Amino acid sequence: MKQNTEAWRALDAAHHLHPFSDTKGLNAQGARVITRAEGIYLWDSEGNQIIDGMAGLWCVNIGYGRKDLAEVAKRQMEELAYYNTFFKTTNPQVAELSKLLAEVAPDGFEHVFYTNSGSESVDTMIRMVRHYWSSVGKPEKKVLIGRWNGYHGSTIGGASMGGMTYMHEQGDLPIPGIVHVEQPWYYKHGKDMTPEEFGLAAARWIEDKILEVGADKVAAFVGEPIQGAGGVIIPPATYWPEVERICRKHDILMVCDEVICGFGRTGQWFGHELYGVKPDLFTTAKGLSSGYLPIGAVFVGERVAQGLIEHGGDFNHGFTYSGHPVCCAVARANVTALRDEGIVARVREETGPYMQAKWRETFGQFEHIDDVRGVGLIQAFTLVKDKQKRALFDNWGTMGLACRDIFFRENLIMRACGDHIVAAPPLVISKPEIDEMLGRAARCVEEFERVVVRGQPG
Ligand code: PMP
Repeated sequence: MKQNTEAWRALDAAHHLHPFSDTKGLNAQGARVITRAEGIYLWDSEGNQIIDGMAGLWCVNIGYGRKDLAEVAKRQMEELAYYNTFFKTTNPQVAELSKLLAEVAPDGFEHVFYTNSGSESVDTMIRMVRHYWSSVGKPEKKVLIGRWNGYHGSTIGGASMGGMTYMHEQGDLPIPGIVHVEQPWYYKHGKDMTPEEFGLAAARWIEDKILEVGADKVAAFVGEPIQGAGGVIIPPATYWPEVERICRKHDILMVCDEVICGFGRTGQWFGHELYGVKPDLFTTAKGLSSGYLPIGAVFVGERVAQGLIEHGGDFNHGFTYSGHPVCCAVARANVTALRDEGIVARVREETGPYMQAKWRETFGQFEHIDDVRGVGLIQAFTLVKDKQKRALFDNWGTMGLACRDIFFRENLIMRACGDHIVAAPPLVISKPEIDEMLGRAARCVEEFERVVVRGQPG
């Protein structure tokens, strides 16, 4: 394998431009070659066993290596590998999946629109929301409000909707008609308020923006129930209900981006259910197929669905692979397993609470870790210079990367989002595996504090 590793690295360096990567730096170092996976573990081409504390990119909810999903894909490829859903045609798999999704979604979500990814779900949502308002006679309602540090994908629409300024800088984003408000990050922005007060205040930033733009011009507010790639920013419990109240008051659609939170990540089927709110639409991908094949879906609530169906006429939007039969078959098997094997319920009742207790116990005692947080199987902590003063390190992100590199070297995948360290393992992780993951992480953090922060010899 050693020889292969070098050969694959050379090919990769010669021909492959990686997403979100500095190609020059990566090629100098060489990419790690992942060759197989089972449960929560990955193996690289050198034979190292790695704990995947991120479920790939927050997506392999069901865990790796499910032969039954592979079987479903094989059978479907043999039966009907592809046909489109554009021109008065459908297929059994897309019809059955749509029914299943209506069952697992909260009441009032009877319709879905299919895409291939989270970014496409967000782009679809943007176009659908604007088309909805035009269809019901309010074409001037076009502006979408997102949040700074939100992540909604990499397409022009998704990256505009997101609030990652380093993405906006590349390619003149956001596109017109998309504006942003501050994220509900209590630790940074909520200093002299209680979390409850801060939740209300942060929601009212949205109202300020609505009034600034003019409610008659605003189509929707869009937010992740818990901001994922922004560093697992969990809003106070008062935030989403107040956002919902404000959206209703000003007749603005409320959209949740459930690409990470959806399909059990928080212990609920969808993240917004944690907060007792009801969006008008929500976007999904990732956990819908647990990453086994690319598929996303926009869930459309009653109001928008009826508006589109009754008044919309043609919706001039769709993808060659919308409702792809093989992706739908695999998604269906995956969602059925998440439900019927009790995987989502176990996150809610057992492994989620266990992870959260252990996560706080393990990381709460480090000198340079604060804001230890999480719900279900999504969690984070923040590396800080001084806990008492709530002071962050200078050069935001540098410490996060240094810590992440230690995890990586020790065969543990956890991610740095700035100086937030985040984890989101496959939902099938067992309690002993949680112990193993956190034990390894704690040893890495000890080394981080000793070597990187205090500068002692490794
Ligand atoms: N929305 C959210 C909330 C996401 O986390 C992501 C991906 N991390 C996306 C959209 C984009 O999904 P994709 O990478 O599948 O396009």
